[in-house]
Amino acid sequence: MNNATLLFLGTGTSEGVPRVSCLTHPEKHCEVCHDAIKVGSPNRRRNTSILISKTLKNKKKLNVLIDVGKFFYESSMNWFPPNTIKTIDAIVLTHSHADAVGGLDDLRDWTNNTQNIINVYLRKTDLVSISRSYDYLVDRSKQTGGGGVANLKFNVIDHNPFEVCGIKFTPLPVIHGPTQLANGYRFGNVTYISDTSSIPSETQKLISGSEILILDALRPRKTHGTHFTLEEAIAFARTVKPNKTLFTDAAHDVNHVQINDYLKKILWDENLDMQYAYDGQKLQIKL
Ligand SMILES: [Zn+2]
Ligand SMILES: [Zn+2]
Repeated sequence: MNNATLLFLGTGTSEGVPRVSCLTHPEKHCEVCHDAIKVGSPNRRRNTSILISKTLKNKKKLNVLIDVGKFFYESSMNWFPPNTIKTIDAIVLTHSHADAVGGLDDLRDWTNNTQNIINVYLRKTDLVSISRSYDYLVDRSKQTGGGGVANLKFNVIDHNPFEVCGIKFTPLPVIHGPTQLANGYRFGNVTYISDTSSIPSETQKLISGSEILILDALRPRKTHGTHFTLEEAIAFARTVKPNKTLFTDAAHDVNHVQINDYLKKILWDENLDMQYAYDGQKLQIKL
């Protein structure tokens, strides 16, 4: 039985869509970026992030955020009020690139005004990286400004499954470019991999049997080096054969409606349901 909700807070790349330079360029006309500024456009994409919401028997909602990137402020402003998200009960990080951790500073609104503390679950390597970029968040005695800083409790994870708000998360180590690993996560019937260029066979075993696959698919055709292309993502989905695949981390090369129409043809031909997700999309999941 579906007992939880997954909300896409963002489905775009680090720079977001639209690219501002596409809107200001004197000659180039980028159709996707110009569409993305229209109200309600599915081409408007903030940094890739999801929120898992689980409602307890006493009706209290527990909310676990995966990644808190540069666009977190705007994502939460857009999607939290209409979805009655009032607390952030924990954060799980995939890696420490700016589009995954750049919003950590904005969490001070939450720990100043709605809750005392937020638990953050992350790898040791990401804690080291965050200690360099945001030393005052890891050691609050280093703060220099007024207004307080976010009160975060950093919990280091290893390769073993861990539990957050009663939800079991299994880390899925994946390759994310030539020099680093990122984590995807399996929880309930979902596999979530937002940043990958290659998925090792040991990790593929942990993904096997997932009913819902959420997967990095930066853009069609052009290889990138740190992200799956759409073709690579489709090839991987074919090996997993989930009931539903949603692609994320999309660049401005992805015209949402056109590409999803193309993907529907694969559904008819191969009975493989794949679509690009959009910001604000909700999905019922099993935990
Ligand atoms: Zn563009
Ligand atoms: Zn990254």
